[in-house]
Amino acid sequence: MSLDGSYDEGNVFALILAGKIPSTKLYEDEHTLAFLDIQPQSKGHALVISKWSKARNILDIEPEALAQVMTTVQKVARALREALSPDGLHVAQFNGALAGQTVFHLHVHIVPRWEGQPIGFARHGQDGFADPAELAALADQVRACL
Ligand code: 5GP
Repeated sequence: MSLDGSYDEGNVFALILAGKIPSTKLYEDEHTLAFLDIQPQSKGHALVISKWSKARNILDIEPEALAQVMTTVQKVARALREALSPDGLHVAQFNGALAGQTVFHLHVHIVPRWEGQPIGFARHGQDGFADPAELAALADQVRACL
């Protein structure tokens, strides 16, 4: 999908927001939701989305929704730091399939980074899924710091 196009109401994050598929939630408020990535790039890889914006990417999101998302990104980043003591935090956001975007509901990645581990984004296929029990335990640990 290119940078242009219409919002797909059936995208996986819309289904999470509608409660049609589960997610391991870290934090939510009136406007935003943060949850763990099912194919994490590192331990604690989190995603933040707007609950109400139908934006696919940075070009079409309402400034108000973007500000709400980034405020939650900072809140969750601080909790990840406290919970997991990473050496760095990679905040990333992809726009368009050619830039690596696979889910077309704007989302921001927060990826804890540790010395000695690769810092790129691996392209997962049908591999790299986290153990749901491990994600649940990790979410408890992070939520305790929020
Ligand atoms: P993108 O490449 O679009 O920036 O990132 C999409 C992210 O969503 C990927 O890191 C992918 O692992 C994650 N993802 C895809 N489907 C699901 C899902 O059903 N649940 C969760 N928690 N994450 C998902």
